Amino acid sequence: MVTDFLELGLSTGILNAIAELGFEKPTPVQARIIPDLLVGDGDIVCLAQTGTGKTAAFGLPTLEYLDVSNPDTQALILCPTRELCRQISQDLSNYAKYLPGVKIVSVYGGAGIIGQIKTLKGGAHIIVATPGRLLDILKRGAADISKINTLILDEADEMLNMGFKDELDAILEQAPQDRRSLLFSATLPKEVERIAKSYMKEPEIVTVGERNAGSDNVEHFYYMVKEEDRYAAMKRIADYNPDIYAIVFCKTREETQKVADMLQRDGYDADSLHGDLSQAQRDSVMGRFKRKALHLLVATDVAARGIDVSDLTHVINYNLPQEIELYTHRSGRTGRADKKGVSIAIINQREKGKIRRIEAVIKKQFTRLPVPGAHEICERQLAHLINEINGAEVREDIYAFMPTIEQMWAELSKEDLVKKMLSYEFNRFFDYYRKAKDINIPEKEKKDRKSLKEGRKPVRESDGDPAERKDRKGKDGNPGTCENGFVWLRINLGYKNKIIPRDIISIMKTCGIGKKSIGKIEIFNEFLYVGLKENVAEYARSQINGATYGRRRLSASLMKN
Ligand code: ADP
Ligand code: MG
Repeated sequence: MVTDFLELGLSTGILNAIAELGFEKPTPVQARIIPDLLVGDGDIVCLAQTGTGKTAAFGLPTLEYLDVSNPDTQALILCPTRELCRQISQDLSNYAKYLPGVKIVSVYGGAGIIGQIKTLKGGAHIIVATPGRLLDILKRGAADISKINTLILDEADEMLNMGFKDELDAILEQAPQDRRSLLFSATLPKEVERIAKSYMKEPEIVTVGERNAGSDNVEHFYYMVKEEDRYAAMKRIADYNPDIYAIVFCKTREETQKVADMLQRDGYDADSLHGDLSQAQRDSVMGRFKRKALHLLVATDVAARGIDVSDLTHVINYNLPQEIELYTHRSGRTGRADKKGVSIAIINQREKGKIRRIEAVIKKQFTRLPVPGAHEICERQLAHLINEINGAEVREDIYAFMPTIEQMWAELSKEDLVKKMLSYEFNRFFDYYRKAKDINIPEKEKKDRKSLKEGRKPVRESDGDPAERKDRKGKDGNPGTCENGFVWLRINLGYKNKIIPRDIISIMKTCGIGKKSIGKIEIFNEFLYVGLKENVAEYARSQINGATYGRRRLSASLMKN
């Protein structure tokens, strides 16, 4: 593997620009892709996680190939969000600092189309676009992609997640046949494969790093509290880390707004970023966050996608995402460019199964941390304040006021003065934490913890609706075949135990398995069979086998189809 940018075959102008950006050696994805792009001409599908340096991997060779004397648009880069559009075009401009005359134009929704069309009229060697806006522009004849030689789909999985399928198809239909196509994605779902099959020419699939693996230098922690203490835990995490600079991920726009509002009300430098905000509002929030005028950016997954802030201290999962893959994207926002990162999840007692599922995917363990208590937090804050005071520069300006200061403080001993000054800053904290309780949930005995009946409402015989009841079979028998992609999990609970499908769904929920992963359910007298998606089945078996349901000890086994 090439370990030096010089050996990659890039020209001096580009080498100088990236040296100024502090790039010392190529990242693995850059070392793997750049020589291929400079020498070969085949299509490439590159699977690499976030933060691996993909922008330069495709950006540097694209710039190298550009013919500046030709005014045609030669490269098109498609990506899912406006933030990412702006980020990529900014990165490309930085790399092109010593390449005179290169025109890079970005076009995206949520900003005036007229202005973007005007900019395009001034020429664009490279267009960076979101699919929807580009299609609008193409329909108006304001851009010409018929002469491009390079087409790049960045974060292809996310573009499809965001529903850009039709737009992508329409654009890809219009692009010239003899182009080279590159597709970048963190994952390879069916839809991405379809795009690669339909629009790329026998692409080479390059996987850099283990697929889906969490970034190596990110540590994962969780705090377990009662649902109603989630926000209090968030506050304590922030207070315990006076230098915090973090993205706080929430599940929905409403939650994002609510958490940001509460943090602001409680005196934190926090604001929200989500799709309900206008473009101007989003720009202002991002600007303040990048300048560190904001320390907590409360965001939805979509809004935060592609945001590149390299020195975050933490990524906080205020709520874990529905999809495990999103967790990888979230935690990939920290631990960038060789820095250590910390990803934190706040969970309630019922969400431990989710943590286990994430661990299985990222192949790393979470460590449970106790929510810091009042004393520890106040100690950390005091130490921080004292350090700040020690670090303050004493300017000459103060001398003119010293006689007055000395006179006013003449009666106070040094000790009293220190107490008064720190209390002045600190009483707000003391007031809040004097009343603060321990919000940790004690680790329970193992037997207890595995009880799947915890939190289950008693179900009466009549709770089963007729449709569910017809699933019941009098005798034990064969469940028949499962749906495609599902396997049977056999559990030693049945009609005898007054089990109805709803109970099974709630058992699965306790293990962190959602309805989407559950297929057919067949209940017999002594046993039941539940169809589970193949990728969660073994996990479910390990969770259920040996656990208790009421007083019954469960045994669970997977059936061969
Ligand atoms: P990805 O698109 O894979 O998520 P980016 O291209 O946004 O990652 O790069 C992540 C960060 O790493 C950026 O801040 C970028 O400037 C930085 N970076 C990229 N390549 C290098 C390198 N060779 N050396 C140091 N930093 C780099
Ligand atoms: Mg990227």
